[in-house]
Amino acid sequence: MIDPFGREISYLRVSVTDRCDFRCVYCMAEDMTFLPKAEILSLEELERLCAAFIRKGVRKLRITGGEPLVRRNIMNLFKGLGRHLDNGSLEELTLTTNGSQLSRYARELAEVGVRRVNVSMDTLDPDKFLAITRWGKFDKVVAGLDAAAAAGLQVKINAVALKGVNEDELDSMVAWCGERGFDLTLIETMPLGDIDGDRTDQYLPLSVVRARLAENWTLQESAHKTGGPARYFDVQETGRRLGFITPLTHNFCESCNRVRLTCTGTLYMCLGQEDAADLRAPLRESESDAPLDAAIDEAIGRKPKGHDFIIDRRRQAPALSRHMSVTGG
Ligand code: SAM
Ligand code: SF4
Repeated sequence: MIDPFGREISYLRVSVTDRCDFRCVYCMAEDMTFLPKAEILSLEELERLCAAFIRKGVRKLRITGGEPLVRRNIMNLFKGLGRHLDNGSLEELTLTTNGSQLSRYARELAEVGVRRVNVSMDTLDPDKFLAITRWGKFDKVVAGLDAAAAAGLQVKINAVALKGVNEDELDSMVAWCGERGFDLTLIETMPLGDIDGDRTDQYLPLSVVRARLAENWTLQESAHKTGGPARYFDVQETGRRLGFITPLTHNFCESCNRVRLTCTGTLYMCLGQEDAADLRAPLRESESDAPLDAAIDEAIGRKPKGHDFIIDRRRQAPALSRHMSVTGG
């Protein structure tokens, strides 16, 4: 799949549910209205959609959400997708999770061929963890991380940098990840979806964070690239990688290799634009994959050149009305 700007689309992120067992303050309001179950694709339908993308050249699949591991029978989807790893048509199957269910699933994930997991964790302080996630239990996530390591999964921690909340902890998080053999990626807050508070209060530019971290750590720019909005550094003292995802301050669109599918079968060609394609109708229209294939081609043909996120300080409105838990980040 080649888009109109000559970019090869080889990476699909799939949000398998918009529901979650946490309510992170930057991601959701406490009282969320979720999609009615009837609108959500079955796991079989999601698998068929993923298979269509793999046939068309997707080599990397990331399962996300909401919280992917709270969807009932989710391992059936992982098992089905794992078969594409076995026959070589898929290179990587991975997931982004809040870690709450990892103790239960880490071993099974490794068995179906998952090698790496991204686990979101913004603080090492259990009280702060509860304040940020509203409903999360820090110890349970740490137990999940232990289970992931024991199952041989490589772990990358994702932390959203939040002004006045975890900015004083980022040094200790670099050290903690180093001790445990985890990579760490810091994320800037993105203006996606209504939340209860004001996002301009939370916004912490990663340029500032990086300058501060560089006072204590030797950061060497790394050649590692994913086609996404992250810049990577090797932390000499720990031997681990440190990434910075800066969608608001850095333009990364020219290397974009990805599209995002929601649990209702809506395909977003860009995280920062409203334009989307409905794949549920062509999927359900026929047992043949021809209508679906045509709809995917048409959608890739209108992938936009880029996005222009801003946190609007006057209106204080989100740049996009949909939450990150819909498109999965
Ligand atoms: N529930 C899983 C988790 O938390 O990892 C997967 C879905 S979550 C939406 C994916 C990532 O998006 C998480 O790392 C989360 O911290 C991040 N995220 C959510 N809302 C965000 C926002 N408004 N700005 C920046 N990152 C956000
Ligand atoms: Fe749930 Fe992940 Fe959003 Fe937190 S960031 S509320 S864990 S979907």
